[in-house]
Amino acid sequence: MLVVLHNTATDQQIDTVLARITSMGLRAEVIPGSLRTAIGILGNTGYVDGDALAQLPGVKEVIHVTKPYKLVSREWKSKNTVVDVDGVKIGSDDFVVMAGPCSVENEEQLMQTAAAVKKAGAQILRGGAFKPRTTPYSFQGLGKEGLELLQKAKKTYGLPIITELLHVANLDLVASHTDIIQIGARNMQNFEMLLAVGKLQKPVMLKRGMSARMEEFLLAAEYILNAGNPNVILCERGIRTFETATRNTLDLNIVALVKEVSHLPIIVDPSHGTGRYSLVTPLALAGFAVGADGLMVEVHPEPSKALSDGDQSLTLQNFEKLMEKINTYKKIHV
Ligand code: PEP
Ligand code: MN
Repeated sequence: MLVVLHNTATDQQIDTVLARITSMGLRAEVIPGSLRTAIGILGNTGYVDGDALAQLPGVKEVIHVTKPYKLVSREWKSKNTVVDVDGVKIGSDDFVVMAGPCSVENEEQLMQTAAAVKKAGAQILRGGAFKPRTTPYSFQGLGKEGLELLQKAKKTYGLPIITELLHVANLDLVASHTDIIQIGARNMQNFEMLLAVGKLQKPVMLKRGMSARMEEFLLAAEYILNAGNPNVILCERGIRTFETATRNTLDLNIVALVKEVSHLPIIVDPSHGTGRYSLVTPLALAGFAVGADGLMVEVHPEPSKALSDGDQSLTLQNFEKLMEKINTYKKIHV
């Protein structure tokens, strides 16, 4: 529920409304806005006497939030959330590209990729140090050593880092080595992890679970915001459908719909979304066209030798070509 105040409401009137909400055993959050100030009500599992609140001095109207998610909804906050990562603004007018290898494999591979993606115009460097792999027999990532290499690349090339937190026990370690904490598709509903990253203020990128509906995706983000961290970026990375011709089906419907119903930024990952390098560029451009706030793309100097996801990784040259196309689209878009 949202209590919308008159522009002329005094601080004392606002305090009275807050006190009334608290006396009902509920949590109140003031949502300042340029056009209106509102008070959001949280913690209500049952009936709330909206009429009693509507009658208080200074109150313009009481709006029932119709969705099961609140904090992430546009009803709650109409203005886009912009997540600031070392000056890179995700959710603003800028289309932000995160690129790098699926896994950090060694220093040379990471540095070479970082140099190339930076030169081509990527703003954030990705790289997995702890890898969620379908089979226990494949490369599981370099762990701490991978995080240290990412830090080295950051210092050398000045690119902020995004890397995945695979287990909540590694939160401090990962958080201290990254600028954005990535929560992978397989952990989208790891509620303990969502609550743990919610206690920080560090930006979190939440990837959609491969069989999660949009509502579940947004409710997972709601956990993080409700725990106190507003800096959440969503990522559509493809879902499982009946179609087996591609690894996943990049669900661009949801990108456009999320922009309608939520104020959070959403980016697309056409690498995992398709599983084929030849489809990465067309789907990246499609993501731009439907209004995504950015991209995450896997890039490798020698995809055929990659220790993970080589089939869907762009070469350094192909990434450069993708960035040229993105820049052309940006010019048309203005
Ligand atoms: C990744 O980005 O490397 C990754 C493992 O992605 P997802 O969680 O979407 O499978
Ligand atoms: Mn990958």
